[in-house]
Amino acid sequence: MRRIVVVGAGMAGLHTAESLRAEGFDGTLTLVGDEPHRPYSRPPLSKEVLTGKGGDAGLRLRADSEVDALGLDLRLGRRAERLRPAERTVELDDGTALPYDGLVVATGARARRPATGLAGVHVLRTLDDAAAVRAAFAEAGRVVVVGAGFIGSEVAASARAVGLEVTLLEAAPTPLTRVVDPRVGRTLTELHRDNGVDVRLGTGVAGFEGAGGRVERVRLSDGGAVEAPLVVAGLGVDLNTGWLAGSGVRLDPGTGAVLCDAYCATGVPDVYAAGDLADWPHPRYGGRMRLEHWTNAGEQAAAAAHNLLAGGDGRRPYTPIPYFWSDLYGMKVQLLGQAAPADTVEVVHGSTDDRKFTAFVGRGGRLVGVIGLRSTPKVMRYRGLLAEDTAWDDALAAAGVSPRP
Ligand SMILES: Cc1cc2nc3c(=O)[nH]c(=O)nc-3n(C[C@H](O)[C@H](O)[C@H](O)COP(=O)(O)OP(=O)(O)OC[C@H]3O[C@@H](n4cnc5c(N)ncnc54)[C@H](O)[C@@H]3O)c2cc1C
Repeated sequence: MRRIVVVGAGMAGLHTAESLRAEGFDGTLTLVGDEPHRPYSRPPLSKEVLTGKGGDAGLRLRADSEVDALGLDLRLGRRAERLRPAERTVELDDGTALPYDGLVVATGARARRPATGLAGVHVLRTLDDAAAVRAAFAEAGRVVVVGAGFIGSEVAASARAVGLEVTLLEAAPTPLTRVVDPRVGRTLTELHRDNGVDVRLGTGVAGFEGAGGRVERVRLSDGGAVEAPLVVAGLGVDLNTGWLAGSGVRLDPGTGAVLCDAYCATGVPDVYAAGDLADWPHPRYGGRMRLEHWTNAGEQAAAAAHNLLAGGDGRRPYTPIPYFWSDLYGMKVQLLGQAAPADTVEVVHGSTDDRKFTAFVGRGGRLVGVIGLRSTPKVMRYRGLLAEDTAWDDALAAAGVSPRP
C-alpha cells in the first residue's frame, strides 16, 4: 500500500492520518477537506468560542508544526465528489482524480438547516458558523434556540453567559427524550430555568416570520409566537455521504450512514470509514451503533487506520466504550457507555435534586452505561465495570447500593 487517501479533514480525518504514520505508513498520504481551515476541534464552538471565555486554544487539535511533521499532501478547500472503486480513484471538485491503494471516509456531518431564506437564522457546526453566531450574539439582546439537544442546550447556556435573553424551544416533553431517562432531562430543564432560560417544552416550530429578509419571530406549534431577532437551530445533522452514491459503499437507507463491519471496513476493497458517519456492529451492546462523539471520532480513526494497514488476520474489531460529555453552566454532564429511553436508570451517588449525581444505566440485566453530572471521578471509576460487561446487581454492589427486591 503506497497511496492512502483520507477524505474529510475533521477530527476523524486528522486522527486517521496520524495513526497511519504512527503505524509506520510512509507512503503518499493525502488528506482532503472541503473547509478552508486546518483540522480543528468542534466542541469549543458551542462553548468557549461563543462565550469568548477561556480563549480559542481548545479549537486547535494540533500545532501547525505537528501537522506539517506528518508530511501530508493536504488538500484544503477541496471537495470529494465521487468515489470510483473500479479505478481506485476519488474525484475532487477541481477535476483531479486522486489514485488510492487505501481510502478512509471521514466526511462527518453537517447541521440540518431550517428551510427559511431569512437572515438571522443560524446553525452551528463549523468554525465559520460559530464566528457568525458569536458576532450575532454581540448585536442581539435575545436569541431563540430551537431544539434542546446537547448543541441547543450549550448554545442556550453560552448565550446566558454573555447576557442574552434566551428562549429554548423543544418539541419533545423533556430534553434528550430519545437519549436519556426523563429524570435526567428534567434536571437539565431545571438547570436552564434556574439560569434564566425561558424553556418551552412540547413546543415545536410552525414557521419563521420576518421583514426585509430578516427573521423577526418564530411561530409556535401551539399557535403562539416568540419575538426572535436571532435564531440558532440545533435540529441534528445530515451525514456527508452523498458523494459515495453509486460507489458500492453501502449506506443506511434512513440515516445515510456508511454501513461498516466490525473492523470499520465498508465492504468495498480497502475502503474504511470512521467518525460521525460510520455505523458498525458492536457486540457489547447487541446491535449496530453510530456515535456523534468527539472521542469516538479519534478512537475509530485509529481502528480504521490499523485495520486498513494490517489487513486479514491482523485486523481488530472496534469495540470501544463510548464516551460523551457536555458543558452546561460550568457543570459537566457525562455519559460513558450507552443509554436509551427504555433502559433502567438508578442513581448510585448524589441526587438529581442536588444537581450532582452518578447514575447507572441497565439493560437486559447488565450495566450498559454510567451518566454523571458534576461527578467526573466517580463516572470514570466505573469504566472497568463497563469493560467487563458486569451484571446489573454486581454493578450496584460495586457501588455500595443494594439491589431493589
Ligand atoms: C458545536 C459542536 C459541539 C460539540 N460538542 C461536543 C462535546 O462536547 N462532546 C462530544 O463528545 N462531542 C461533541 N461534538 C461532536 C464532535 O465534535 C463530533 O463527533 C466530531 O467532530 C466528529 O468528527 P468527524 O471527523 O467524524 O466529522 P466532522 O467533524 O464533521 O468532520 C468532517 C469534515 O469533512 C468535511 N467534508 C464533508 N464532506 C466532504 C467532501 N465531500 N469532501 C471533503 N471534505 C468533506 C467536513 O466539512 C468536515 O470538515 C460537538 C459537535 C459540534 C458541532
